[in-house]
Amino acid sequence: MSRRYSLWALARNALSHHENWPKAWRSPQPKPAYDALIIGGGGHGLAAAYYLARLHGVRRVAVLERGWIGGGNTGRNTTIVRSNYLMDENAPFYEHALKLWEGLSQDLNYNVMFSQRSVINTCHTPGEREATMRRYNAMRLRGIDAEFLGREDLARIEPAMNLSPDSRFPILCALAQPRGGSARHDAVAWGYARAADAQGVDIIQNCEVTGIDRDPATGAVTGVQTTRGAIRAHKIGIAVAGHSSQVAAMAGVRLPIESHLLQAFVSEPVKPFLNTVVSTGAAHFYISQTDKGEVLLGGEIDGYNSYSQRGTLPKVEEVVRNATEMFPRIGRLRFMRQWAGVMDMTMDGSPIIGKLPVPGLYMSGGWCYGGFKATPGSGWCLAWTMARDEPHPLNAGFTLERFRASHMIDEKGAGPFPKAH
Ligand SMILES: Cc1cc2nc3c(=O)[nH]c(=O)nc-3n(C[C@H](O)[C@H](O)[C@H](O)COP(=O)(O)OP(=O)(O)OC[C@H]3O[C@@H](n4cnc5c(N)ncnc54)[C@H](O)[C@@H]3O)c2cc1C
Repeated sequence: MSRRYSLWALARNALSHHENWPKAWRSPQPKPAYDALIIGGGGHGLAAAYYLARLHGVRRVAVLERGWIGGGNTGRNTTIVRSNYLMDENAPFYEHALKLWEGLSQDLNYNVMFSQRSVINTCHTPGEREATMRRYNAMRLRGIDAEFLGREDLARIEPAMNLSPDSRFPILCALAQPRGGSARHDAVAWGYARAADAQGVDIIQNCEVTGIDRDPATGAVTGVQTTRGAIRAHKIGIAVAGHSSQVAAMAGVRLPIESHLLQAFVSEPVKPFLNTVVSTGAAHFYISQTDKGEVLLGGEIDGYNSYSQRGTLPKVEEVVRNATEMFPRIGRLRFMRQWAGVMDMTMDGSPIIGKLPVPGLYMSGGWCYGGFKATPGSGWCLAWTMARDEPHPLNAGFTLERFRASHMIDEKGAGPFPKAH
């Protein structure tokens, strides 16, 4: 049976009461050796494996995931996708990712429910307005879509927003990126997994990497130790988000990454009243409404390091206090679920995508608050770098070396404070 999803496949499977659909991906046993291994079965790892096989012809590829695919931050995030960046390294990289998002459902033959409903960032002080105007101009100069919105525009686009000058965070104006929006997180992991599997990639779940083997003479990687045995490979990519520093340490590499929790929560489903994705730096929260009608909210990372993946009530109070000020009507909603993910926070707020100082070892990590939107671009660049043993111009700046050379990619100009990014 064809693995392609289509109207024809739907009709044919209806004849057998939809009981004979083939599994979306296999569950193979790990082989003793591969050409390339990816550690981490989140969106980034699965995307890297897919592009390695699809675009670079690397056939013997495995993704090693210690739990289930998409069970990490990919399945825990608030799914905001945008490319409204200022800096020379960030803007082209995230715009490349956004262009990949725009064709992703077709490319993967899987509906990732990419919804370009616009992402709006509100400004609350004259200083913020100046900085936002600069970003707006930079985006326009680069050919990236951007709109500068006044309060009348906001009243028309988001009627539920509190635009009163007497509110706690009076809104002056906003930056909108109409091509931004959100996507369905699970579908991104499942779509990449299915497409990678179709290219022959082995996706091995319940397989934790516990060590990275190196050649004593050259220092190059030779394979990994896992809870399911040793596996040999001369190219290993790390895409484990909040566990980046732990896994890189297995090869003796120390990363400037701290792991913090980022929490999110959803309300009961209600009729649509939010038309876009809204975020604010002043009160630091972001809000959108899911396709099911739930109101989805997130805020700042927790100020302490943790790997617990648990939500806390003080965080709900902090975020909801600010969000109800801007959207008073959500005060009557009941919240249903809360969770956390382990964030890989770098010291300048930008990622590390490329070669590590161990031959054959590569990584994509340090995503801070915003790696979901990068998923296709991160996988694409990691695959390129692993296949050619050199970075693509799009990720050439995102080196580990930059921290030693003090060439920070500090989008917010916030300095070496992970929480501020
Ligand atoms: C609450 C929250 C809200 C967020 N909101 C947004 C947002 O709106 N927009 C945005 O762009 N980004 C957002 N992010 C960030 C985004 O979710 C992440 O940057 C992105 O999903 C990371 O994807 P990944 O594939 O690198 O990591 P993950 O999806 O975490 O995948 C890494 C995988 O590695 C596995 N792993 C770890 N250690 C090992 C090991 N030793 N061996 C084998 N496997 C291992 C883990 O089990 C995990 O499945 C948010 C994150 C959170 C938590």
